[in-house]
Amino acid sequence: MNDTIPFLDLIGPHLELEAELTESFRTALRGAMFIGGGALTSFEKNFAAFHDVAECAGVASGTDALLFALVAGGVQPGQTVLTTANTFIATAEAITQAGATPEFIDVDERSYNLCPVKLRAYLESCPRDAQTGLRLSRRTQTPIAAVLPVHLYGQMADMDAIEEVAQEFGLLVFEDACQAHGAEYYSKRDKRWRKAGSIGLASAFSFYPGKNLGACGEGGAVTTNDPALAAQVRMLRDHGQSRKYHHDVLGYNGRLDAIQAGFLDIKLKHLAEWNRLRQAAAARYDEGFKDASEVIAPFKAPDSRPVYHLYVVRVGDRDQVQASLNAAGIGTGIHYPVPIHLQKAYSSQGYHVGDLPLTERLANEVLSLPMFPKISEIQQNKVVEETLKAVGRALPGLSSAH
Ligand SMILES: *Cc1c(COP(=O)(O)O)cnc(C)c1O
Repeated sequence: MNDTIPFLDLIGPHLELEAELTESFRTALRGAMFIGGGALTSFEKNFAAFHDVAECAGVASGTDALLFALVAGGVQPGQTVLTTANTFIATAEAITQAGATPEFIDVDERSYNLCPVKLRAYLESCPRDAQTGLRLSRRTQTPIAAVLPVHLYGQMADMDAIEEVAQEFGLLVFEDACQAHGAEYYSKRDKRWRKAGSIGLASAFSFYPGKNLGACGEGGAVTTNDPALAAQVRMLRDHGQSRKYHHDVLGYNGRLDAIQAGFLDIKLKHLAEWNRLRQAAAARYDEGFKDASEVIAPFKAPDSRPVYHLYVVRVGDRDQVQASLNAAGIGTGIHYPVPIHLQKAYSSQGYHVGDLPLTERLANEVLSLPMFPKISEIQQNKVVEETLKAVGRALPGLSSAH
């Protein structure tokens, strides 16, 4: 069989929904409903309900969602925001675009998300500003105002522990939920399941096409339980105007267009089912790798329901394994090959190799395997087989034949 296995499938789901998507586009076209209007408010309402939050404001991208969340949430130029370097660069870019400085905390060994223990240790090592009571970043001596955990690969960060540290040190909490649409986490503090994007002061989602909920173009959203913050985001996305041509603050052109909102509203109805299919596929991969010590499968905390935006394993000779899979017609990805603190764009921050040992190690070991809702068992068996072959492990049942 020479069938190739794609890394993700951006065609299948749209073919299935083609009639509905086309109809939505036709409606927009015939009514010249391109910006704002009913499609946007309907999607915002449905997306907020899906994530158990009071408010959702559609914006132009996940990056804008992060920026607007931080600014509307009160992060000021000259402050520091703590986050992880084991993420897509947009997390840090948004902090910088808000005029603040990102400071990177190393990740948890199992979840690869921002580590609350290292977060606390870092904060304890920072001097306290006598005036504000906030800690001052050791690197830039600027007040540490907020923490921005990322729910990487669709697995939520340990929000109970992060919130506890944040409370103790007076930090605002924001969430980068750009990879975690619908992910859940059992909060022991609140004794209930909580969704990604419903915990922090404000949270960011991306609708980049490959995300668990993707637009047919660019898009993003801010979720929050604070109506005043949501109103601020709605101003920021629209040149800071509260009514037409009356600009209260300097803003941006950062709106979610009505055509994308219409598409997203249609696709949102399938998100829960798509997430369930991803979880089932992840369980099949887990089973396939369970006896192979050469392959570290994703950690799943007992009190979490990750949505597997990506299924990421760790292997020793990653580049060789990736090349083998590629030769076998299997699409893979690396998320991410260069941690943010070592990116050229952030070289002025003065970080060095060795500053975040675990993050740096992950960059050399992670490999994202094909993952999409309708990946078949046959496709997954082949991925498992080829991965085990590439790490030099004979398949069970075949080993005795040689
Ligand atoms: C995709 C992504 C973003 C940025 O979203 P865009 O819509 O591409 O701007 C931010 N953070 C993380 C973790 C992401 O995966």
